[in-house]
Amino acid sequence: MHDATPGYVPAVLEANRKLVVAIDGPAASGKSSTAQWVAEKLGFRHVDSGALYRAITAARLRAGGSPDEWSEPSVLAVARQVSLRPVERGFVALIRGENADGEIRGGEVTREVSRVARMQSVRDWVNAEVRRAASGHDVVVDGRDIGTVVFPDAQLKIFLVADPWERAKRRLVQRLSRRPTDAEIAEETERLVQRDARDATQTVQARDAVLIDTTYLTQSEQVERIVALARGVTSRRGATSPVDGEADSR
Ligand code: C5P
Repeated sequence: MHDATPGYVPAVLEANRKLVVAIDGPAASGKSSTAQWVAEKLGFRHVDSGALYRAITAARLRAGGSPDEWSEPSVLAVARQVSLRPVERGFVALIRGENADGEIRGGEVTREVSRVARMQSVRDWVNAEVRRAASGHDVVVDGRDIGTVVFPDAQLKIFLVADPWERAKRRLVQRLSRRPTDAEIAEETERLVQRDARDATQTVQARDAVLIDTTYLTQSEQVERIVALARGVTSRRGATSPVDGEADSR
């Protein structure tokens, strides 16, 4: 006899359901690179939701006008120029069918992206794209609201945090490929704290998320923790999944 409890999922369906690992957290908390690495180790696909907000912002910047005057319909209209192309272990965001990775990671997009991300119709559009990209695959999805809004029933939710100074330092090391000065770190910390404030409403830790403070962790330690948690989930659901067999490639 089947259990009629609302929300009850028969074990066989639960075992077949694709696995979603949601990784949320503030700017420069290492979500995307960690998510990518975790996906590689697990044999999952990586979906970077922030790349879509960035690509829409870049497309809107191309259309011109002062960002203070961007209307929501004008932003939503250019969202239709943005798409995700599947690549080996994930997706790249395209504008009018072309890779614009350099442009979407640039300073101007980073400055303006939060205003675009606050527009509800844009969020709905991005969420639908992210769900579409994820459907039918085991995925690691990173963003701000993945565990709360996009995949509230994700089997594993992680919320990554780190001290702002440390986040700023990591970001600069990545960008400059050298040791940044304290003055440079202080300036970048200020920028990050301001972006955190602009993104505060959409950055939400799910009640059932595992909080990982990465301030004193290396990236490989963060990755190992998340991979171990994901392996725990798959072994509990008893599925034969690539998680258990995939050789670590890094
Ligand atoms: O993750 P990343 O820093 O590339 O994200 C760029 C911006 O996109 C964030 O500053 C935030 O405004 C927005 N964002 C969001 N919700 C997500 C992912 C990103 O609001 N799920």
